[in-house]
Amino acid sequence: MKKLAIIGAGIAGLSCAKELQSHGISVDIFEKSRGPSGRMSTRRTPDWSADHGAQYFTARDPRFIQEVQHWINTGSAAAWKPKLKVYEAGAWRDSNSREIRYVGTPKMNSIGKLLAEELSIQYETTISQLQRSSGKWHLQCSETSNIPTPYDFVVLAIPAPQASTLIGDLDDRASKITDTAQMKACWTMMARLPNQLKTEFDAAFINQEIISWICQNGSKPMRHSNLWTIHGSPSWSQEHVELSKEDAQDRLVKCLIKLGFNCQDAEISMHRWRYASGGLENPMGYLSLPNVGLGLCGDWLNGGRVEGAWLSGLELALALKRQCT
Ligand code: FAD
Repeated sequence: MKKLAIIGAGIAGLSCAKELQSHGISVDIFEKSRGPSGRMSTRRTPDWSADHGAQYFTARDPRFIQEVQHWINTGSAAAWKPKLKVYEAGAWRDSNSREIRYVGTPKMNSIGKLLAEELSIQYETTISQLQRSSGKWHLQCSETSNIPTPYDFVVLAIPAPQASTLIGDLDDRASKITDTAQMKACWTMMARLPNQLKTEFDAAFINQEIISWICQNGSKPMRHSNLWTIHGSPSWSQEHVELSKEDAQDRLVKCLIKLGFNCQDAEISMHRWRYASGGLENPMGYLSLPNVGLGLCGDWLNGGRVEGAWLSGLELALALKRQCT
């Protein structure tokens, strides 16, 4: 039986591993964080928790619709029907969007936790280097000694710039693709606003400002915190990715005040996502290179977003299954 390793336990890596496992192909997953889910994440402190990565997801592909139904049936996801507004050119209006939006329950990372059940995942294991010799992959890791098992196939289920670093000059085709992808940062602010009166909306798309999204976490099913999650726009965040947390916070707070929020006595926590969104201009779904035993999957290969990531992992698994069995 061929040995497979997946690097990254975000939604793409988990979807790939689940599909392979359902066909009797076992996989070892290596994840640098303490838990699964990647950018579908929740920041937790003793006092509060808030979704600070993906805010919600939509489902269009019939395979993903079926999967989301399974998540709902197991209590790990639910529909979210926010009162949505749009802010544009100095004015607020109701959003016309009729999309059905879903969230993980009780937290966004509940979905990753569900998918991770029965998978073999080694957490707090950052793969720092790949080496190929005698037709096998050898994985080096930052935290412990190297991974002892040699692998026939390695899947990189991580953002393009991180995949690019690992691939280096190991394969020209793969590095050309990772280097073409354009990913953008996102500055995220989580704020408790004790002096803010109740708003007429749960979440809002903000256009032409440095903030692009604002959302009251407590409006999502099974959440109790009254925290706001605020995202900097992709272009502003990318341009200001090297700001200190304090400077990024000052600028986002000024914008929040301009939007009419009372930020007096605000309690704020910041997070910088270096690779939040974006990817290939022409999505290719996934990449499989059987001759070198290398695969790539992730949102950035498949139009971005949660649905794209899940489908990318699934489709790579189906291609690998044909090669491994
Ligand atoms: P990731 O979730 O990034 O998973 C990659 C995993 O690999 C991570 O867990 C990481 O820790 C791990 N990793 C990386 N390098 C290594 C290494 N060397 N060794 C070991 N492990 C490694 N999508 C939507 O559909 N709707 C939204 O509203 C939405 N909003 C978003 C807002 C923000 C701020 C962000 C950041 C993302 C948002 N997204 C949204 C995008 C969505 O989160 C992603 O499309 C999706 O989660 C990507 O999944 P993935 O598995 O491809 O990658």
